[in-house]
Amino acid sequence: MYKRATGVDSCGICKQESERGFYLLSMWICPSCERKMVELEVEDPTYAWYIERLRGSTMNSRMLSH
Ligand SMILES: [Zn+2]
Repeated sequence: MYKRATGVDSCGICKQESERGFYLLSMWICPSCERKMVELEVEDPTYAWYIERLRGSTMNSRMLSH
């Protein structure tokens, strides 16, 4: 049995499974979270929350800390 390389993945932010989306660094982002991130102001507390979620991955935190 082979796992499909492409298919449903669960969003790294809202944990909802989504067939459509994209990988932001190593985290799968669903279209609704992508839209929210684009619309958020940097001053918005929710924005910081999203960044925290992204830093949750070891790979991401390494890539985000310059
Ligand atoms: Zn999501």
